[in-house]
Amino acid sequence: MLTTCYGFKIQNGLLRLPVRPRRYVYVKLNSRTLQVLSGHDARSVTLTSDSLSITYSKETVEIEPKGYVGVDRNLDNVTVASTDGRVRTFDLSKANKIKADYRYVKSRFKRNDSRTMARVFSKYGEKQRNRVQPILHNVSRRIVDDARTKRYGTVMEKLTGLRRLYRRGSFRSRNYRARMNNWSYGELQRQIEYKARWEGLKVIYVPARNTSKQCSICGYKTLESTQRKLWCPKCGTVLDRDENAARNIASGGLRFSPDGPPGEAMVEEREPENATLILKVDGGKLSQQPTTTTRPDEEDLTEPKNKHLVYSVSS
Ligand SMILES: [Zn+2]
Repeated sequence: MLTTCYGFKIQNGLLRLPVRPRRYVYVKLNSRTLQVLSGHDARSVTLTSDSLSITYSKETVEIEPKGYVGVDRNLDNVTVASTDGRVRTFDLSKANKIKADYRYVKSRFKRNDSRTMARVFSKYGEKQRNRVQPILHNVSRRIVDDARTKRYGTVMEKLTGLRRLYRRGSFRSRNYRARMNNWSYGELQRQIEYKARWEGLKVIYVPARNTSKQCSICGYKTLESTQRKLWCPKCGTVLDRDENAARNIASGGLRFSPDGPPGEAMVEEREPENATLILKVDGGKLSQQPTTTTRPDEEDLTEPKNKHLVYSVSS
């Protein structure tokens, strides 16, 4: 059972939920929940049989970026390149394996679509999500923490048309397409975006074309070199494929200057500078839950159920 409630109020450490006209249920919120909520707007409340989730938002002022980080997705990792030259790779093979296993098991049972099976798989799907989410949260948190320290904006590729790109008939192998489509990259992007915006950091999306083949030094079309490497016939540079793509994304798909950091102005040309922009940002979900071992969302809070003071009061 899941109920989302909007006509609520938070007062004196209590959450007031309407159950009938002029009749309310009060839930005592723990100090951590109240601390996180202070200064934010509570947006909605969701109740399940054993937990309470509150979504919240705050107003942020967008920080003018001092540089950019480009996030590129690959089969089993994301590569992140900053305009200061730093490159980091985050391994996500474990998350992909969990998802692939789930898809395989599910495909074995396709013809059997009785209600029971549907229930079993909804439960199983929830389990695999609960295992994948913390991995993605860890990676998105580390990417955003780094961007926040440097006051950098984040650049990612638009996912539109991605599935079309990896569908049948394209030159990649069937296995490659399946694995690329299986990726939780959309979810990772969503997490990076809301975490970055929460910190007031700029988020830019660029079209996916040309970011992988173009030379990040001179912009010329590169040639395939040995595995995972590209060679630029114009400037003669041998480039790491993932790094090159991430750098192209960081510079907004435009040229990287040969020495030193690339011109931020080039990115600014495409994204005209905004005056102080106030954004409304939805934060994570805040939950009061009984003991859980895996945290579906890192902002989730854990508290034993018996500590909740739940009582009904009529007024
Ligand atoms: Zn080149």
